[in-house]
Amino acid sequence: METPRIVDIFKQGQPHQEVVVQGWIRTKRELKDFAFLEVNDGSCLANLQVILAPELPDYPELLKQLNIGSSVQITGKLVESPGKGQKIELKAQEVRIYGNSNPETYPLQKKRHSFEFLRTIGHLRSRTNSIGAVMRIRNTCGQAIHEFFQSRGFIWVHTPIITANDCEGAGELFTVTSLDLNNPPKTAAQELDYSQDFFGRRAYLTVSGQLEAEVMASAFSRVYTFGPTFRAENSNTSRHLAEFWMVEPEMAFCDLQGNQDLAEAFLKQIFKTVLEKCPEDLEFFNQRIDNSVIATAENIVNNEFARITYTEAIALLEKADRKFEYPVEWGIDLQSEHERYLAEELFKKPLIVRDYPAGIKAFYMRLNDDQKTVAAMDILVPKIGEIIGGSQREERLDVLETRITPEARTELWWYLDLRRYGTVPHSGFGLGFERLVQFMTGMGNIRDVIPFPRTPMSAEF
Ligand code: ATP
Ligand code: MN
Repeated sequence: METPRIVDIFKQGQPHQEVVVQGWIRTKRELKDFAFLEVNDGSCLANLQVILAPELPDYPELLKQLNIGSSVQITGKLVESPGKGQKIELKAQEVRIYGNSNPETYPLQKKRHSFEFLRTIGHLRSRTNSIGAVMRIRNTCGQAIHEFFQSRGFIWVHTPIITANDCEGAGELFTVTSLDLNNPPKTAAQELDYSQDFFGRRAYLTVSGQLEAEVMASAFSRVYTFGPTFRAENSNTSRHLAEFWMVEPEMAFCDLQGNQDLAEAFLKQIFKTVLEKCPEDLEFFNQRIDNSVIATAENIVNNEFARITYTEAIALLEKADRKFEYPVEWGIDLQSEHERYLAEELFKKPLIVRDYPAGIKAFYMRLNDDQKTVAAMDILVPKIGEIIGGSQREERLDVLETRITPEARTELWWYLDLRRYGTVPHSGFGLGFERLVQFMTGMGNIRDVIPFPRTPMSAEF
Protein backbone atom coordinates (compact mmCIF):
# COMPACT_ATOMS: atom_id res chain seq x y z
CA MET A 1 0.00 0.00 0.00
CA GLU A 2 1.20 3.50 -0.79
CA THR A 3 1.99 5.55 2.28
CA PRO A 4 0.37 8.97 2.12
CA ARG A 5 1.89 11.95 3.84
CA ILE A 6 0.05 13.19 6.88
CA VAL A 7 -0.77 16.48 5.19
CA ASP A 8 -2.68 14.54 2.52
CA ILE A 9 -4.53 12.52 5.12
CA PHE A 10 -5.80 15.74 6.67
CA LYS A 11 -6.78 17.04 3.24
CA GLN A 12 -8.31 13.95 1.67
CA GLY A 13 -8.59 11.19 4.26
CA GLN A 14 -12.06 9.68 4.67
CA PRO A 15 -13.39 7.77 7.68
CA HIS A 16 -13.05 3.96 7.29
CA GLN A 17 -10.20 4.36 4.84
CA GLU A 18 -7.22 2.13 5.55
CA VAL A 19 -3.85 3.87 5.53
CA VAL A 20 -0.21 3.36 6.41
CA VAL A 21 1.52 6.27 8.10
CA GLN A 22 5.22 6.71 8.79
CA GLY A 23 6.71 9.32 11.08
CA TRP A 24 8.11 10.24 14.47
CA ILE A 25 6.27 10.26 17.76
CA ARG A 26 5.82 13.72 19.20
CA THR A 27 3.87 12.76 22.32
CA LYS A 28 2.40 9.75 24.03
CA ARG A 29 -0.54 9.82 26.45
CA GLU A 30 -1.58 6.72 28.32
CA LEU A 31 -5.12 6.48 29.65
CA LYS A 32 -6.69 3.57 31.42
CA ASP A 33 -8.17 1.87 28.39
CA PHE A 34 -6.35 3.54 25.55
CA ALA A 35 -3.19 5.29 24.59
CA PHE A 36 -2.77 8.18 22.20
CA LEU A 37 0.21 9.01 20.07
CA GLU A 38 0.81 12.19 18.15
CA VAL A 39 2.74 11.37 15.01
CA ASN A 40 4.43 13.88 12.74
CA ASP A 41 6.15 13.29 9.41
CA GLY A 42 7.22 16.87 8.69
CA SER A 43 4.66 17.32 5.90
CA CYS A 44 2.62 19.76 7.98
CA LEU A 45 2.45 21.40 11.35
CA ALA A 46 -0.37 19.27 12.71
CA ASN A 47 0.28 15.86 14.23
CA LEU A 48 -1.88 12.90 13.39
CA GLN A 49 -3.47 11.47 16.48
CA VAL A 50 -3.20 7.70 16.68
CA ILE A 51 -5.36 5.60 18.99
CA LEU A 52 -3.84 2.46 20.43
CA ALA A 53 -6.31 -0.01 21.89
CA PRO A 54 -5.41 -2.88 24.24
CA GLU A 55 -6.45 -5.42 21.59
CA LEU A 56 -3.21 -4.73 19.75
CA PRO A 57 -0.75 -7.65 19.99
CA ASP A 58 1.68 -7.31 22.92
CA TYR A 59 -0.03 -4.09 23.96
CA PRO A 60 1.80 -3.51 27.29
CA GLU A 61 5.22 -4.21 25.79
CA LEU A 62 4.40 -2.12 22.72
CA LEU A 63 3.41 0.84 24.85
CA LYS A 64 6.71 0.71 26.68
CA GLN A 65 8.60 0.94 23.42
CA LEU A 66 6.58 3.70 21.81
CA ASN A 67 8.32 6.77 23.05
CA ILE A 68 8.70 10.42 22.20
CA GLY A 69 11.19 10.57 19.32
CA SER A 70 10.68 6.98 18.11
CA SER A 71 10.12 6.34 14.42
CA VAL A 72 7.11 4.25 13.55
CA GLN A 73 4.92 2.88 10.84
CA ILE A 74 1.29 2.57 11.73
CA THR A 75 -1.31 0.75 9.71
CA GLY A 76 -4.90 1.36 10.62
CA LYS A 77 -8.26 2.85 9.80
CA LEU A 78 -9.11 6.50 9.74
CA VAL A 79 -11.92 7.47 12.04
CA GLU A 80 -13.73 10.70 12.65
CA SER A 81 -12.22 12.56 15.56
CA PRO A 82 -14.52 13.29 18.46
CA GLY A 83 -12.15 15.99 19.72
CA LYS A 84 -12.50 19.49 18.38
CA GLY A 85 -9.97 20.88 15.97
CA GLN A 86 -8.99 17.82 14.03
CA LYS A 87 -11.53 15.98 11.99
CA ILE A 88 -9.68 12.76 11.49
CA GLU A 89 -7.54 10.37 13.50
CA LEU A 90 -6.07 6.92 13.04
CA LYS A 91 -7.07 3.78 14.87
CA ALA A 92 -4.01 1.54 14.85
CA GLN A 93 -4.21 -2.07 13.70
CA GLU A 94 -0.54 -2.74 13.32
CA VAL A 95 2.45 -0.89 14.70
CA ARG A 96 5.99 -1.24 13.53
CA ILE A 97 8.81 0.50 15.36
CA TYR A 98 11.73 1.44 13.13
CA GLY A 99 13.91 3.04 15.75
CA ASN A 100 13.31 3.39 19.41
CA SER A 101 14.20 6.51 21.35
CA ASN A 102 15.13 6.96 24.96
CA PRO A 103 12.55 9.29 26.50
CA GLU A 104 14.85 10.03 29.44
CA THR A 105 17.65 11.45 27.30
CA TYR A 106 15.81 12.66 24.17
CA PRO A 107 16.53 16.39 24.18
CA LEU A 108 13.17 17.44 22.79
CA GLN A 109 10.53 17.22 25.44
CA LYS A 110 6.97 18.32 25.10
CA LYS A 111 7.60 21.73 26.67
CA ARG A 112 8.73 24.76 24.71
CA HIS A 113 12.47 25.11 24.24
CA SER A 114 14.36 28.34 23.64
CA PHE A 115 15.81 28.91 20.18
CA GLU A 116 19.24 29.21 21.79
CA PHE A 117 18.90 25.74 23.21
CA LEU A 118 17.58 24.37 19.92
CA ARG A 119 20.71 25.65 18.17
CA THR A 120 22.76 23.30 20.36
CA ILE A 121 20.80 20.36 18.96
CA GLY A 122 20.90 21.27 15.30
CA HIS A 123 20.49 17.62 14.34
CA LEU A 124 17.11 17.37 16.07
CA ARG A 125 15.62 20.84 16.07
CA SER A 126 13.87 20.44 12.71
CA ARG A 127 11.53 18.06 14.51
CA THR A 128 10.03 20.98 16.43
CA ASN A 129 6.93 22.90 15.38
CA SER A 130 8.73 26.18 14.90
CA ILE A 131 11.77 25.05 12.92
CA GLY A 132 9.55 22.66 10.97
CA ALA A 133 7.24 25.52 9.99
CA VAL A 134 10.24 27.68 9.05
CA MET A 135 11.61 25.02 6.74
CA ARG A 136 8.31 24.44 4.99
CA ILE A 137 7.87 28.18 4.42
CA ARG A 138 11.47 28.36 3.23
CA ASN A 139 10.74 25.63 0.73
CA THR A 140 7.63 27.40 -0.54
CA CYS A 141 9.56 30.66 -0.89
CA GLY A 142 12.18 28.86 -2.97
CA GLN A 143 9.54 27.37 -5.19
CA ALA A 144 7.78 30.73 -5.59
CA ILE A 145 11.07 32.36 -6.56
CA HIS A 146 11.69 29.86 -9.34
CA GLU A 147 8.11 30.15 -10.54
CA PHE A 148 8.27 33.92 -10.59
CA PHE A 149 11.34 33.99 -12.80
CA GLN A 150 10.54 30.98 -14.93
CA SER A 151 7.12 32.38 -15.78
CA ARG A 152 8.82 35.56 -16.98
CA GLY A 153 11.34 33.86 -19.23
CA PHE A 154 14.36 34.14 -16.96
CA ILE A 155 17.06 31.49 -17.28
CA TRP A 156 18.42 30.05 -14.05
CA VAL A 157 22.20 30.21 -14.25
CA HIS A 158 24.74 28.65 -11.90
CA THR A 159 27.51 31.04 -11.05
CA PRO A 160 30.70 29.78 -9.44
CA ILE A 161 31.14 29.29 -5.74
CA ILE A 162 34.91 29.47 -5.99
CA THR A 163 36.13 32.72 -7.48
CA ALA A 164 39.43 34.50 -7.95
CA ASN A 165 37.80 37.91 -7.85
CA ASP A 166 38.35 39.83 -4.63
CA CYS A 167 37.17 43.21 -5.84
CA GLU A 168 33.88 43.28 -4.03
CA GLY A 169 34.00 41.90 -0.56
CA ALA A 170 37.07 43.56 0.89
CA GLY A 171 37.84 41.86 4.16
CA GLU A 172 34.80 39.62 4.02
CA LEU A 173 36.28 36.89 1.85
CA PHE A 174 37.04 33.32 2.85
CA THR A 175 40.14 31.99 1.17
CA VAL A 176 39.96 28.61 -0.56
CA THR A 177 43.28 26.82 -0.56
CA SER A 178 44.81 23.38 -0.84
CA LEU A 179 48.22 24.56 0.38
CA ASP A 180 49.69 22.76 3.36
CA LEU A 181 49.20 25.51 5.88
CA ASN A 182 51.65 23.92 8.28
CA ASN A 183 54.37 24.14 5.72
CA PRO A 184 53.27 26.58 3.04
CA PRO A 185 55.37 27.82 0.15
CA LYS A 186 56.50 31.40 0.70
CA THR A 187 57.37 34.22 -1.63
CA ALA A 188 60.59 36.20 -1.32
CA ALA A 189 58.61 38.66 0.80
CA GLN A 190 57.70 35.82 3.16
CA GLU A 191 54.05 35.86 2.19
CA LEU A 192 52.06 32.77 1.25
CA ASP A 193 52.86 31.90 -2.34
CA TYR A 194 49.47 31.41 -3.90
CA SER A 195 51.01 30.89 -7.31
CA GLN A 196 51.71 27.37 -6.06
CA ASP A 197 48.16 26.93 -4.84
CA PHE A 198 45.51 24.82 -6.57
CA PHE A 199 44.39 27.47 -9.05
CA GLY A 200 47.81 29.08 -9.43
CA ARG A 201 46.43 32.17 -7.73
CA ARG A 202 44.57 33.07 -4.61
CA ALA A 203 40.94 31.95 -4.65
CA TYR A 204 37.95 32.72 -2.48
CA LEU A 205 34.40 31.69 -1.75
CA THR A 206 32.08 33.99 -3.63
CA VAL A 207 30.30 36.87 -1.90
CA SER A 208 27.90 37.34 -4.83
CA GLY A 209 27.22 35.89 -8.25
CA GLN A 210 26.49 39.26 -9.78
CA LEU A 211 29.49 39.81 -12.03
CA GLU A 212 29.07 36.39 -13.60
CA ALA A 213 25.30 36.92 -13.80
CA GLU A 214 26.04 40.05 -15.86
CA VAL A 215 28.01 37.86 -18.26
CA MET A 216 25.07 35.51 -18.61
CA ALA A 217 22.54 38.35 -18.94
CA SER A 218 24.63 39.63 -21.84
CA ALA A 219 23.71 36.43 -23.66
CA PHE A 220 20.29 35.42 -22.36
CA SER A 221 18.84 38.88 -21.57
CA ARG A 222 17.16 37.73 -18.36
CA VAL A 223 18.84 35.42 -15.89
CA TYR A 224 18.84 34.70 -12.21
CA THR A 225 21.06 32.90 -9.77
CA PHE A 226 19.92 31.15 -6.62
CA GLY A 227 22.85 29.81 -4.71
CA PRO A 228 25.04 30.01 -1.63
CA THR A 229 27.26 33.00 -0.89
CA PHE A 230 29.83 33.45 1.83
CA ARG A 231 30.95 36.39 3.90
CA ALA A 232 33.52 36.23 6.65
CA GLU A 233 31.92 39.07 8.50
CA ASN A 234 32.66 39.04 12.13
CA SER A 235 29.52 40.89 13.00
CA ASN A 236 27.56 38.72 15.37
CA THR A 237 24.19 40.15 14.47
CA SER A 238 20.76 38.57 14.21
CA ARG A 239 20.73 39.38 10.47
CA HIS A 240 24.10 38.09 9.26
CA LEU A 241 25.29 34.60 8.43
CA ALA A 242 28.69 33.54 7.14
CA GLU A 243 26.97 31.30 4.61
CA PHE A 244 23.67 32.37 3.15
CA TRP A 245 21.64 31.94 -0.01
CA MET A 246 21.19 34.75 -2.42
CA VAL A 247 18.81 35.27 -5.32
CA GLU A 248 20.23 37.54 -7.99
CA PRO A 249 18.26 38.40 -11.12
CA GLU A 250 20.10 40.31 -13.82
CA MET A 251 18.25 41.90 -16.73
CA ALA A 252 19.61 43.33 -19.94
CA PHE A 253 17.69 46.28 -21.42
CA CYS A 254 16.46 47.28 -17.96
CA ASP A 255 16.97 50.51 -16.03
CA LEU A 256 16.62 51.30 -12.34
CA GLN A 257 12.90 51.90 -12.66
CA GLY A 258 12.38 48.48 -14.22
CA ASN A 259 14.62 46.99 -11.56
CA GLN A 260 12.47 48.45 -8.78
CA ASP A 261 9.28 47.32 -10.49
CA LEU A 262 10.59 43.80 -10.82
CA ALA A 263 11.79 43.62 -7.23
CA GLU A 264 8.43 44.82 -5.93
CA ALA A 265 6.45 42.37 -8.09
CA PHE A 266 8.86 39.66 -7.00
CA LEU A 267 8.36 40.17 -3.26
CA LYS A 268 4.61 40.50 -3.73
CA GLN A 269 4.38 37.20 -5.55
CA ILE A 270 6.44 35.33 -2.97
CA PHE A 271 4.28 36.59 -0.13
CA LYS A 272 1.12 35.83 -2.06
CA THR A 273 2.25 32.29 -2.70
CA VAL A 274 3.14 31.68 0.93
CA LEU A 275 -0.17 33.13 2.10
CA GLU A 276 -1.93 30.71 -0.23
CA LYS A 277 0.17 27.61 0.31
CA CYS A 278 1.24 27.83 3.96
CA PRO A 279 -1.69 29.34 5.88
CA GLU A 280 -1.27 26.97 8.80
CA ASP A 281 2.44 27.58 9.23
CA LEU A 282 2.00 31.36 8.89
CA GLU A 283 -0.77 31.29 11.45
CA PHE A 284 1.60 29.48 13.79
CA PHE A 285 4.14 32.32 13.56
CA ASN A 286 1.39 34.88 13.91
CA GLN A 287 0.31 33.28 17.17
CA ARG A 288 3.62 32.27 18.65
CA ILE A 289 6.32 34.55 17.32
CA ASP A 290 5.00 37.86 16.03
CA ASN A 291 1.34 38.77 15.82
CA SER A 292 1.90 41.08 12.86
CA VAL A 293 3.20 38.42 10.50
CA ILE A 294 -0.01 37.88 8.54
CA ALA A 295 -0.95 41.56 8.43
CA THR A 296 2.54 42.31 7.16
CA ALA A 297 2.27 39.69 4.43
CA GLU A 298 -1.12 41.01 3.34
CA ASN A 299 0.15 44.54 3.44
CA ILE A 300 2.97 43.60 1.08
CA VAL A 301 0.67 41.88 -1.37
CA ASN A 302 -1.96 44.62 -1.38
CA ASN A 303 -0.09 47.90 -1.08
CA GLU A 304 2.48 49.64 -3.16
CA PHE A 305 5.93 49.98 -1.72
CA ALA A 306 7.06 53.48 -0.87
CA ARG A 307 9.82 54.83 -3.11
CA ILE A 308 12.13 57.70 -2.21
CA THR A 309 15.62 58.89 -3.04
CA TYR A 310 18.52 58.66 -0.65
CA THR A 311 18.53 62.46 -0.44
CA GLU A 312 14.89 62.42 0.63
CA ALA A 313 15.65 59.66 3.13
CA ILE A 314 18.38 61.77 4.72
CA ALA A 315 16.00 64.72 4.98
CA LEU A 316 13.43 62.52 6.72
CA LEU A 317 16.03 61.18 9.12
CA GLU A 318 17.22 64.68 9.94
CA LYS A 319 13.65 65.63 10.80
CA ALA A 320 13.17 62.54 12.99
CA ASP A 321 12.08 63.16 16.58
CA ARG A 322 14.93 61.09 17.99
CA LYS A 323 18.66 60.75 18.28
CA PHE A 324 20.38 58.03 16.31
CA GLU A 325 23.52 56.35 17.49
CA TYR A 326 25.12 57.10 14.11
CA PRO A 327 24.69 60.78 13.23
CA VAL A 328 22.85 61.57 10.02
CA GLU A 329 24.27 63.65 7.21
CA TRP A 330 24.25 63.42 3.43
CA GLY A 331 26.93 60.95 2.37
CA ILE A 332 26.68 58.45 5.21
CA ASP A 333 25.89 54.82 4.62
CA LEU A 334 22.47 54.15 6.12
CA GLN A 335 22.79 52.09 9.29
CA SER A 336 20.34 49.46 10.38
CA GLU A 337 18.77 51.88 12.91
CA HIS A 338 18.13 54.40 10.12
CA GLU A 339 16.73 51.77 7.78
CA ARG A 340 14.42 50.43 10.43
CA TYR A 341 13.22 53.85 11.47
CA LEU A 342 12.23 54.62 7.89
CA ALA A 343 10.55 51.30 7.10
CA GLU A 344 9.15 50.43 10.50
CA GLU A 345 8.07 53.72 12.00
CA LEU A 346 7.74 56.25 9.23
CA PHE A 347 6.38 54.32 6.27
CA LYS A 348 5.24 51.17 8.07
CA LYS A 349 5.79 49.13 4.93
CA PRO A 350 8.55 48.19 2.51
CA LEU A 351 10.43 51.16 1.21
CA ILE A 352 12.70 51.42 -1.81
CA VAL A 353 15.51 53.93 -1.42
CA ARG A 354 17.39 54.82 -4.60
CA ASP A 355 20.17 57.05 -5.90
CA TYR A 356 22.78 56.68 -3.18
CA PRO A 357 26.00 58.72 -3.01
CA ALA A 358 28.58 57.23 -5.36
CA GLY A 359 31.18 57.24 -2.61
CA ILE A 360 29.46 54.57 -0.50
CA LYS A 361 28.47 52.22 -3.29
CA ALA A 362 30.26 49.73 -5.51
CA PHE A 363 32.18 50.72 -8.65
CA TYR A 364 29.81 48.90 -10.99
CA MET A 365 26.75 50.98 -10.12
CA ARG A 366 25.72 53.42 -12.84
CA LEU A 367 26.71 57.03 -12.29
CA ASN A 368 23.73 59.38 -12.42
CA ASP A 369 23.72 62.60 -14.40
CA ASP A 370 24.28 64.62 -11.21
CA GLN A 371 27.73 62.97 -11.07
CA LYS A 372 27.24 62.57 -7.31
CA THR A 373 24.89 59.65 -6.97
CA VAL A 374 24.59 56.21 -8.50
CA ALA A 375 21.52 54.30 -9.70
CA ALA A 376 21.43 52.02 -6.67
CA MET A 377 18.36 50.83 -4.84
CA ASP A 378 17.87 49.06 -1.54
CA ILE A 379 14.59 47.64 -0.30
CA LEU A 380 14.13 48.20 3.40
CA VAL A 381 11.52 46.39 5.43
CA PRO A 382 10.25 46.70 9.01
CA LYS A 383 12.19 44.77 11.67
CA ILE A 384 14.97 43.64 9.34
CA GLY A 385 16.18 46.70 7.45
CA GLU A 386 17.83 45.87 4.13
CA ILE A 387 16.43 42.80 2.42
CA ILE A 388 17.37 43.59 -1.19
CA GLY A 389 20.29 45.54 -2.60
CA GLY A 390 20.52 46.29 -6.30
CA SER A 391 21.43 48.76 -8.99
CA GLN A 392 21.52 49.66 -12.62
CA ARG A 393 25.01 48.69 -13.74
CA GLU A 394 27.47 51.05 -15.40
CA GLU A 395 27.34 50.02 -19.05
CA ARG A 396 29.58 52.83 -20.37
CA LEU A 397 33.18 51.70 -20.62
CA ASP A 398 34.69 55.15 -20.20
CA VAL A 399 32.69 55.90 -17.05
CA LEU A 400 33.34 52.45 -15.58
CA GLU A 401 37.06 52.95 -16.10
CA THR A 402 37.00 56.08 -13.96
CA ARG A 403 35.26 54.22 -11.11
CA ILE A 404 37.24 50.99 -11.02
CA THR A 405 40.54 50.53 -9.15
CA PRO A 406 43.64 49.76 -11.23
CA GLU A 407 43.88 46.26 -9.71
CA ALA A 408 40.25 45.46 -10.44
CA ARG A 409 40.68 46.81 -13.93
CA THR A 410 43.37 44.24 -14.63
CA GLU A 411 41.65 41.39 -12.86
CA LEU A 412 38.21 42.05 -14.30
CA TRP A 413 39.29 42.46 -17.91
CA TRP A 414 36.47 40.15 -18.95
CA TYR A 415 33.91 42.27 -17.09
CA LEU A 416 35.13 45.35 -18.95
CA ASP A 417 34.96 43.38 -22.20
CA LEU A 418 31.19 43.15 -21.77
CA ARG A 419 31.20 46.94 -22.25
CA ARG A 420 33.29 46.59 -25.40
CA TYR A 421 31.16 44.07 -27.22
CA GLY A 422 27.49 44.88 -27.42
CA THR A 423 26.99 46.67 -24.12
CA VAL A 424 23.41 47.40 -23.02
CA PRO A 425 21.74 49.15 -20.11
CA HIS A 426 21.20 46.46 -17.50
CA SER A 427 20.18 46.05 -13.91
CA GLY A 428 19.83 43.52 -11.17
CA PHE A 429 19.51 42.98 -7.47
CA GLY A 430 20.36 40.56 -4.71
CA LEU A 431 17.84 39.22 -2.24
CA GLY A 432 19.15 37.60 0.91
CA PHE A 433 17.04 34.46 1.02
CA GLU A 434 17.30 34.04 4.79
CA ARG A 435 16.43 37.69 5.41
CA LEU A 436 13.30 37.06 3.38
CA VAL A 437 12.35 33.98 5.40
CA GLN A 438 13.16 35.83 8.61
CA PHE A 439 10.98 38.73 7.62
CA MET A 440 8.17 36.45 6.53
CA THR A 441 8.10 34.35 9.69
CA GLY A 442 8.92 37.08 12.20
CA MET A 443 11.76 34.95 13.56
CA GLY A 444 14.09 37.07 15.64
CA ASN A 445 17.37 35.48 14.62
CA ILE A 446 18.54 34.59 11.14
CA ARG A 447 20.25 31.47 12.55
CA ASP A 448 16.84 29.91 13.02
CA VAL A 449 15.69 30.17 9.41
CA ILE A 450 18.46 28.10 7.78
CA PRO A 451 18.86 24.40 8.55
CA PHE A 452 22.55 24.59 9.43
CA PRO A 453 23.68 28.13 10.30
CA ARG A 454 27.31 29.16 9.87
CA THR A 455 28.37 32.03 12.09
CA PRO A 456 31.60 33.07 13.83
CA MET A 457 32.82 30.18 16.05
CA SER A 458 29.94 27.97 15.07
CA ALA A 459 29.74 25.29 12.38
CA GLU A 460 29.03 22.16 14.38
CA PHE A 461 26.21 20.56 12.46
P1 ATP B 1 24.10 44.59 5.12
O1 ATP B 1 24.42 46.03 5.04
O2 ATP B 1 22.79 44.29 5.79
O3 ATP B 1 25.22 43.76 5.64
P2 ATP B 1 24.94 44.35 2.40
O4 ATP B 1 24.88 45.76 1.95
O5 ATP B 1 26.25 43.79 2.76
O6 ATP B 1 23.89 44.12 3.60
P3 ATP B 1 24.50 43.27 -0.25
O7 ATP B 1 25.96 43.14 -0.48
O8 ATP B 1 23.75 44.28 -1.01
O9 ATP B 1 24.22 43.44 1.32
O10 ATP B 1 23.83 41.82 -0.45
C1 ATP B 1 22.52 41.64 -0.96
C2 ATP B 1 21.58 41.06 0.08
O11 ATP B 1 22.13 39.91 0.73
C3 ATP B 1 21.27 41.99 1.23
O12 ATP B 1 20.24 42.86 0.88
C4 ATP B 1 20.84 41.04 2.33
O13 ATP B 1 19.48 40.67 2.15
C5 ATP B 1 21.69 39.82 2.07
N1 ATP B 1 22.84 39.70 2.96
C6 ATP B 1 23.98 40.43 2.94
N2 ATP B 1 24.86 40.00 3.85
C7 ATP B 1 24.25 38.97 4.49
C8 ATP B 1 24.65 38.08 5.53
N3 ATP B 1 25.86 38.15 6.08
N4 ATP B 1 23.78 37.12 5.92
C9 ATP B 1 22.57 37.01 5.33
N5 ATP B 1 22.13 37.81 4.35
C10 ATP B 1 22.95 38.78 3.92
MN1 MN C 1 27.11 43.54 4.72
